[in-house]
Amino acid sequence: MKFATKAIHAGQEPDPSTGAVMTPIYQTSTYWQKSPGEHQGFEYSRGTNPTRRALESCLAALENTTYGLAFSSGMAATEAVMKLLRAGDEVITGNDLYGGSYRIFTKIFAQYGIKFHFVDLSDPHRVQDYINDNTKLIWIETPTNPTMQIIDIAAVAAIAKANKVLLAVDNTFASPYLQNPKDLGADIVMHSVTKYLGGHSDVVMGALMLDDEDLYKRLWFIYNSCGATPGPMDSFLVLRGIKTLHLRMKAHCENGRRIAQFLKTHPQVGKVYWPGFENHPNHEVAKKQMRDFGGMISFTVKDAGLEKTFKVASSFKVFSLAESLGGVESLINHPATMTHASIPKETREQAGVTDNLLRLSVGVEDIDDLLEDLETALKL
Ligand SMILES: *Cc1c(COP(=O)(O)O)cnc(C)c1O
Repeated sequence: MKFATKAIHAGQEPDPSTGAVMTPIYQTSTYWQKSPGEHQGFEYSRGTNPTRRALESCLAALENTTYGLAFSSGMAATEAVMKLLRAGDEVITGNDLYGGSYRIFTKIFAQYGIKFHFVDLSDPHRVQDYINDNTKLIWIETPTNPTMQIIDIAAVAAIAKANKVLLAVDNTFASPYLQNPKDLGADIVMHSVTKYLGGHSDVVMGALMLDDEDLYKRLWFIYNSCGATPGPMDSFLVLRGIKTLHLRMKAHCENGRRIAQFLKTHPQVGKVYWPGFENHPNHEVAKKQMRDFGGMISFTVKDAGLEKTFKVASSFKVFSLAESLGGVESLINHPATMTHASIPKETREQAGVTDNLLRLSVGVEDIDDLLEDLETALKL
């Protein structure tokens, strides 16, 4: 099946009891058993629920994997992967990460004796320098958040395989419409479903997609034991959201392209971070591993301090100043004080997250209104 058909149908059949075309919201915690152990595949909703199961099949289909697991947030999905590790294990990860990922690595799992290496992976071969006998996992995010670096997934996967190290890719920014890490050699694909997959800024959810049966069983054990699984209502909302993923992504990419071009020549704008530019340091890798460049763009306000940057960020009418991304509505975010506030100033500035950096999640509104809004805000 092609992507658009999977987005609408994968994992979903008319409901056998009523013929309902849309998967019902099975709002139940438990399931009747005819005699102990004799049930229809569902026992207790922490582990299994029919609405969630339909969603998990759909998520797996979108990433071309065998298995999908939905979690109550992106961070819960990340946490489940980290719980595969033991004290003494080492993880290699990027130096420009979602702030919450950096926080859970350094403030939660480092305490349990897991060691993290934060490495600039714009040259993927740097991974090799950090691999030793204790290395168990490589965790990457591409495009990175918020400076839109591109990491060569296939190149990192080759090094991971040669060293028998697991590779997990946070594919939130690209969405499965633009990039499929499993097909490039990743063992685990992670999503903050909250973003493009949900698409309407009304659900918080995460997911893992993978092929290996043994790894799936280990992750399912963690999922069911720890219990950070989403309820049926949220699962339904995401199933519904995904039905337009391909349509939304096309519009995000078109609007993103127009806005990146606009910012590039604007006199009040310094740097613009968007992988679609030919002079982006890893543009060729982006072209190779992504189908288009998405709706995430970061830029700096030229010669601005915190005060002026705040003024610009607060003066939009169509873009809303808010955390998060990937919804139909356009958002603007100030990473240094919002999404990336938990990263020490010096560390984040090294990664380019300066006080005058703003990040856009370009929505699917009319492009003329978005451009006018930017033009007005940048006049300040
Ligand atoms: C939002 C986000 C997360 C965390 O997901 P939640 O659903 O907010 O828990 C992880 N990675 C990236 C890239 C994100 O944007």
